Amino acid sequence: MTRCPPCRNRGTRWRLARLAVYLLICICLLATETPLAATQPWGLWHRVRRGDTVWGIANQYKVSVQSILGANQIRSARRLSIGKKLFIPGVVPSQQIDGTLHRIKRGDTLWDLARKHHVSVNSLMHVNNLESATKLQVNRTIFIPNSDATGFTAPLRIPLTVTSSYGYRWHPIHKKRKFHHGIDFRVRPGFRVYASKAGKVVRAGWYGGYGNVVVIEHAGGYTTWYGHLSSVRVKVGQKIRLGRVIGLSGNSGSSTGPHLHFEIRWKRKSVHPTHYIRIP
Ligand SMILES: [Zn+2]
Repeated sequence: MTRCPPCRNRGTRWRLARLAVYLLICICLLATETPLAATQPWGLWHRVRRGDTVWGIANQYKVSVQSILGANQIRSARRLSIGKKLFIPGVVPSQQIDGTLHRIKRGDTLWDLARKHHVSVNSLMHVNNLESATKLQVNRTIFIPNSDATGFTAPLRIPLTVTSSYGYRWHPIHKKRKFHHGIDFRVRPGFRVYASKAGKVVRAGWYGGYGNVVVIEHAGGYTTWYGHLSSVRVKVGQKIRLGRVIGLSGNSGSSTGPHLHFEIRWKRKSVHPTHYIRIP
């Protein structure tokens, strides 16, 4: 049976419309996946000098050896050629974070500097890796972060045990080397999870591999992510003060056992949480 041209046209139009809807669905699916896949870690480049070892560099930047090997596709940690540029993921270079450098003068105290720049003594010690607040070396340059980059606190009120740190790791579910954008804390289901800092809830509910997740937006372009929750106790748009309970720990989403996935992003890129909160 032959169809008349208008019918044929209608048929073509119908097929095109179906194709357009299909494409639209694909684009939507891709768009919802992109924030997860496109998250890049901050990092900086380190040029290998004579005497450098991967262990030494990892120790210097407080990242794992695995993370350096993974980021630079190096198979053996023993072979490091001088002059090679290594990407150190997770390290926030001081030029990329709002803040100022200050050269210590005689008579400077950490308390005076903290008061003047509206940051805590603790965060100055943490960011600069200072062992003691009282022993300040004259002429040493310290980094004073913008107050937005400080004030993050641990999301759990139990002794913190890290089961998986930030950086490259062998993914237990995907069975390949993947970048872990957060830090995993061991916690049984049903424990209270607290806002790391004051802010506004921008996501609350199921989100892909994160399972039940809460995302809080903070001043200065920061967000904190709390994944695999068993229940969510906040709503999108809600203003949250520091230390408010936002949900209960769990095992939802892509997870092999109960834990809390905690992530900090700055300008949409993940950063090393241990640069922001003190983890024993
Ligand atoms: Zn995790």
